[in-house]
Amino acid sequence: MPSIDALADRLSTYLGPEQVNLVRRAYFYAEQAHDGQRRRSGEAYVTHPLAVASILADMHMDHQSLMAAMLHDVIEDTGIAKEALSSQFGETVAELVDGVSKLTQMNFETKAEAQAENFQKMAMAMARDIRVILVKLADRLHNMRTLEVLSGEKRRRIAKETLEIYAPIANRLGMHSVRIEFEDLGFKAMYPMRSARIYQAVKRARGNRKEIVNKIEESLSHCLAVDGIEGEVSGRQKHIYGIYKKMRGKRRAFNEIMDVYAFRIIVDKVDTCYRVLGAVHNLYKPLPGRFKDYIAIPKANGYQSLHTTLFGMHGVPIEIQIRTREMEEMANNGIAAHWLYKSSDEEKPKGTHARARQWVKGVLELQQRAGNSLEFIESVKIDLFPDEVYVFTPKGRIMELPKGSTAVDFAYAVHTDVGNSCIACRINRRLAPLSEPLQSGSTVEIVSAPGARPNPAWLNFVVTGKARTHIRHALKLQRRSESINLGERLLNKVLNGFDSALDKIPPERIQAMLAEYRLEVIEDLLEDIGLGNRMAYVVARRLLSTEGEQLPNPEGPLAIRGTEGLVLSYAKCCTPIPGDPIVGHLSAGKGMVVHLESCRNISEIRHNPEKCIQLSWAKDVTGEFNVELRVELEHQRGLIALLASSVNAADGNIEKISMDERDGRISVVQLVVSVHDRVHLARVIKKLRALTGVIRITRMRA
Ligand code: MN
Repeated sequence: MPSIDALADRLSTYLGPEQVNLVRRAYFYAEQAHDGQRRRSGEAYVTHPLAVASILADMHMDHQSLMAAMLHDVIEDTGIAKEALSSQFGETVAELVDGVSKLTQMNFETKAEAQAENFQKMAMAMARDIRVILVKLADRLHNMRTLEVLSGEKRRRIAKETLEIYAPIANRLGMHSVRIEFEDLGFKAMYPMRSARIYQAVKRARGNRKEIVNKIEESLSHCLAVDGIEGEVSGRQKHIYGIYKKMRGKRRAFNEIMDVYAFRIIVDKVDTCYRVLGAVHNLYKPLPGRFKDYIAIPKANGYQSLHTTLFGMHGVPIEIQIRTREMEEMANNGIAAHWLYKSSDEEKPKGTHARARQWVKGVLELQQRAGNSLEFIESVKIDLFPDEVYVFTPKGRIMELPKGSTAVDFAYAVHTDVGNSCIACRINRRLAPLSEPLQSGSTVEIVSAPGARPNPAWLNFVVTGKARTHIRHALKLQRRSESINLGERLLNKVLNGFDSALDKIPPERIQAMLAEYRLEVIEDLLEDIGLGNRMAYVVARRLLSTEGEQLPNPEGPLAIRGTEGLVLSYAKCCTPIPGDPIVGHLSAGKGMVVHLESCRNISEIRHNPEKCIQLSWAKDVTGEFNVELRVELEHQRGLIALLASSVNAADGNIEKISMDERDGRISVVQLVVSVHDRVHLARVIKKLRALTGVIRITRMRA
C-alpha cells in the first residue's frame, strides 16, 4: 500500500525539503477535498492522485507537477474553484490542474472518429504548459493500470481513447515506456482474447528459446570482453501490441515474428557504440540493408540508437540495438528525461516551458546535424508550440485554423456561403463577438441569416487568406452593383434636367461614348459615375452633345433612401440626419459623401455641378444616424444613468458617452446618439431638456 510518507522519502532523493513539504501539503488538501469519495475498487479516492504523483516521481518530475498530480481531480470532482487552488498553492499549480481538468472534460470518443491525429494535436494545443500533458499521461497510465474494475463498455471506451490519442502523444514526446504500457493495456482491454492468446504464445516461445537466448547473450558479452569494451547486453522483449500490429500490418505469422532474437547493448559513450557495432559485425555476418544509424540521423522524436540485424548460429536472425545510457534514458522517457537530468537547478515557474523548449532545441540540433530538420519541425515543434488552434463544429468535426483565427475565419473555412451570410456566433453555446480569437477545444457555431452580407470591418480582424479573399470579393461585387445603381440615378437625374433620360439616348450614341472611354458595357460607365470617378454632369452633356452655354433646367434634387450601401456615406464632420438640408459631394473612388448644406468643409465647391449635387431625403428613408450632442448640466449623482434613461425613453440609442467636469458644479457630457431623423432627435432633446439641472443642449457640427 503506497503512502505519502513513502513517496516523500523517495522525493527527498532529488527535491529539497521545502518542495517535498509542498507536495505533502497538496496531498493532504486532496485527501480532505476527496473525503468520502471512493474509487470503483473501493479504495479511498486519494490513492489515485497519490499513485499518479508516484508515476511522475519515477520520472523525477518537479514539485509543481507532483502537486498538480495530487490535485488533478479536485476541480473536476469536488467543485473547488481554480481560484481557491491558486491562493493555496500558487498560480502555476492552479493553471496545471485547470489544464488537466480541461483535457479530462474533453470527451474525445463521442466526437467524430476518424480524426485521431487532430485530437492529439488539439490536446497538445490546449495545454500551454507541457507538464499538463505529462500529468495527464500519468493520470491515464494509472487509470489504465486499474481498468479492470470498470464495466465492459466504459473500459473499452477508455482503452480506445488511450490507443488513439494518448499512446501517440506519448510517442510524439519520445516517452517509449509509457507508450508501450498504454498499448499493451489498451490492447488487452479492447481485445482480451487476442491479447491473451499472443501473451500465451510469447510465454511458450520464450520458454523454448531460453537456451538459445542465453547462448547468444553469452557470445555477445564474450565478444565485447575480447575487444576490451565495457557494455551491458540484455535480451529485449517485444511488446504484445507490437507483435499484434506486425501480424496484422505486415501479414506475418506469429512464428516469423518470434523467430527474431532481439538484444540491446548499452555503453558509456557514442564512439563506443560504433566499436561495438564493428565487434558484433565481426562475430556474426550482418544482414544486408538492415543497418540503421539513428545516432547520426535521429528519429523525429529524438530517438537515437544503432540498429543492425545479424545472422546468428544456425542462421537465426538477431536484431541488435546499440546506444549509450543517456540515449537509453531518452528513448524510454523522451521529454520527461529532461527533468531526470536537470531537476536540481532553477525553480522559476517559466523554467519548465524553457525546459520543453530546450528539449525541442536539443532534438532540433540533432536533426540539423543530420540534415533532416524539416520532418522534425513538422512532427514535434507544432505539437509543443502550436501555431494552430483546433475547434469543433457543432457536429463534432475538428477544424484546424491558424492561431488568432476568429469565428469569421471559421465560418469561411466551413463554407464560403456560411462566411458571407454570417451575422453572429456562439462559442461553447454562448453568444460571443465575431472578432474574438478562438481557443483550442471550443465548439463554434455560426448564426447566419439569408441575405446577410460581409461587413468591411471584418477585414480588420480576420487572419486567414481564405476569409480575406472572400470578404473582399463579396464586398467588391456588392460595391459594383451599388455603384451601378447610384450611377444610373445620378446620370438620369442630370439627363432629366435636359428633358432627356438614359433610355431615350440612341444606343449607337452610347456605344460611341463607351468606345471613346474604352469601356465595355454601359454598367462600367454607370459604376464609374457611382464611384465618383466620372461626373454625371459631364457624361450627360457629352451624351446629349450639348455645348457649354446651354444650362440644364432647374432639376429636383436626388432623393437619398438610406439603402445605397457602400457607395454612399455620411460625412463625419457634420453628421447629417434625415430632415437636414443636404448636399452630395462626389469624391473619386469613394462614391458620394453626404454633407449638411451648411458644412464649412464643402462651402467652396457647393455650387460646382461637377463636384456637388443637390440632395434631398426620400420620404421612406431608413436607417440609424448618429448625432453628437453636448449637454451642460448641474453636477448630480447618477447623472449618466439619468441621461441614458431619458434617451432610452425617447427610443434613442446611446452609442458613446464621455464626461468632463467643468467646475465643481457644472458637468459637460458629450453624447453620440443614434436616431432615425430630425423629428426623432427633437424628441430625444425634449426628454433631455426635461431633466432637472440641464442648462444647455447643443447639437455638435463642424
Ligand atoms: Mn484522475
